Order: sequence, then structure tokens, then C-alpha cells
Amino acid sequence: MGIKSLKIGFLQLVGCSGCLTSIIDSTVFKEIWNKGYIIFFPMIKDGGDIDSCDLVFIEGSASKRDEKLLKKVRTKVKRVISIGSCACFGGISSNVKELELKPIHSMIEVDLELPGCPPPENLISTLLYALISGKEFKHKTVNVCSECPFHPCKAKYPIIIREIFPKGKSERCLLEEGILCLGPITRAGCEAKCVVQGGSCYGCMGLLKSDSLTSLVDFLALLAIPKELKYDVVNILNLYGKREYVS
Ligand code: SF4
Ligand code: SF4
Ligand code: SF4
Repeated sequence: MGIKSLKIGFLQLVGCSGCLTSIIDSTVFKEIWNKGYIIFFPMIKDGGDIDSCDLVFIEGSASKRDEKLLKKVRTKVKRVISIGSCACFGGISSNVKELELKPIHSMIEVDLELPGCPPPENLISTLLYALISGKEFKHKTVNVCSECPFHPCKAKYPIIIREIFPKGKSERCLLEEGILCLGPITRAGCEAKCVVQGGSCYGCMGLLKSDSLTSLVDFLALLAIPKELKYDVVNILNLYGKREYVS
């Protein structure tokens, strides 16, 4: 595929537009827009045809009624990229139980997943730039803790979880304070944004070892989670679609 002729479509399924907005806000978007790479994009360019695309980005998770469209995309397009945690894992939209939403990879094969809620701007730009310049995009291979100002964590095991979210801005690792933080098992790239801003990491960038659940299972084994907090922990893990791993 000649990079000059790259034709990109952007689809939205059940998502909040946050990922698409982040794409528009990214530094590389203007370039790909001006160079005519974009065939269709929700709300700003209608009418494009999937058949003429080389590559389609998908925001949001899918319901049963999206299956036909997704299969068409898979048949017609060389590369399919899920963008954002909803498309990659079910994410926040999977909390709408009535719709039985699923991640895109559960319906069709996906060539690349870029999680995040929304994905960080620098990663979106790196990915877009890699695509238009024919370079390979590589995920980070370190965890969120490695980008966190409170690293290294000095918590003693087992870590007794007392809170799910911090009540105020912490001056040390949240796990040391008994606050749930999924930084150790979550792929870096966001510069520990939520922790820096006074929250905790709930894992929107996805598991560091995406081919294995071992890290999640091992991490949970280090935590002592009181009965009354288990429901909240399951809900947070459900953003990954992995609620079955909390007993
Ligand atoms: S991943 Fe987050 S920002 Fe993207 S569509 Fe889902 S809820 Fe919105
Ligand atoms: S606060 Fe969270 S992200 Fe930061 S070092 Fe501790 S566990 Fe890791
Ligand atoms: S700190 Fe965690 S939840 Fe927040 S953006 Fe980074 S990966 Fe996502």
C-alpha cells in the first residue's frame, strides 16, 4: 500500500466521542486532514465509503446490531484499529448492561488496539504519524508506575485496601496508603495522569501484558480487599472486561 494513497475512515459505535475528539485535537490530525487522507469522520465528514478505505479506526464498543457493519469493515479494509478503552475492552460503555456491548475484537479480528479513555494525545499522534509514514507503532513495555512521581511503591504485602479512590491529593504511592491503584499492571503512556491529578489509576490503558492475565491475577493476590469493597473493585476491573478474576 503506497502511503501517499492511504485512505482512512473513522467509525463511531457506542462511545462518548471523547476518543474521536482527542484524535481531532492531536497535533498530527491537521496534517492528515489537509493531505486528504480522511475519507469519513463522524460529524465533520460524512458520506465516505468503507470500500475505498485502507484503514478504519473504530471508537466505542459494539452491540449485536453492529456485527454486520463490522464484518463488512473487516472484509473490505486492510487494517482495523480499535481506539479507546470502550472499543478495546468494553470500557465505560460496557456499564450499559441492557445493550450487551462488547469490545470490537470479540466480533472481528483487529490489527491494533490503542486503549485509553481517551488515549493520550502523544500516543494518538505517534500512531497517526507512524501510519502515514509507513513506520511501525510500538506499545510501551513498562507500567504506569514507571511514569508516576510516587514510584517506587514501598507498600508491604499483603496490601490492605481501605479505599477505592483517594479522598484528597496524596504525597506518596496510593497503594502505600491502602488505596486501590492499578498502575503496577497497567501499560504506561499517559504519564500517570490520573495519579498526578489526585485520582488513582483504574487501568484505562489496558494490561501491560495484554497476552496474559497472569499479571492481573498475581496483582490481585497481593491485595487484601474487604468484602464491602469487592463490588467496587469488580466494577473497576470490568472496564477491562475481566470481572471474573475477583472472587
Ligand atoms: S474510551 Fe472513554 S473517551 Fe473513548 S469513547 Fe469510551 S468513554 Fe469515551
Ligand atoms: S500511586 Fe499507583 S501508579 Fe503511582 S507508584 Fe503507586 S501504584 Fe504505581
Ligand atoms: S493513570 Fe491509569 S486510568 Fe489514568 S489515564 Fe493513566 S492508565 Fe488511564
